[in-house]
Amino acid sequence: MHVMKALLIVDVQNDFCPGGSYPVKKGDRVIGPINKALAFARKSNWKLFASRDWHPVDVFKDKPASAHCIVGTKGAEYHPDLDVRDDVEIISKGKDVGEKHYSAFNGDDKSLLDLFRKNNIDEVYIAGLATDYCVKNTVLDSLKFGFKTCVIIDGCRGVNKTPGDDLGALEEMKEAGAFVVESSKVIEDYLGSNIKSL
Ligand SMILES: [Zn+2]
Repeated sequence: MHVMKALLIVDVQNDFCPGGSYPVKKGDRVIGPINKALAFARKSNWKLFASRDWHPVDVFKDKPASAHCIVGTKGAEYHPDLDVRDDVEIISKGKDVGEKHYSAFNGDDKSLLDLFRKNNIDEVYIAGLATDYCVKNTVLDSLKFGFKTCVIIDGCRGVNKTPGDDLGALEEMKEAGAFVVESSKVIEDYLGSNIKSL
């Protein structure tokens, strides 16, 4: 049986990388592994998705210090090294800044769940920023909706407001049924399953 796979990149935007307004420490380190997975996914005809925080400026009027990824700003753009092209479907989220906007399944402009169903997606590989917020919530939603879900571990970084938050988030995702893989393993496993099906 053919398994339809998707790669979903969560919020690898300038504001979440070093130099941005709301940086994840060493957030830009996720780009290498993600680009590697992206190149492989592209070659293998996986469906490609990327979410982005896309906040209207007025949602931060009461707390300007936490402003990030404001629509139309440089900070909201994907990191220039991230290999996002026209073949990646973009989901914008964050009309408000409540916790709901952590999950890529809560897009404002389109429904990721509908897109997954329309494309008959069975398995999704997820990477991005940050492990303990948007990645975690996206992964938990993906599992809740019944998709086999794999976290690309070297393609994620945590905020770690409290030290170890990223590890706690990974545990929570695993307990909910997520698989955790290295970007290099994504490629190996895929090749492996292809060989087995011959
Ligand atoms: Zn946000």
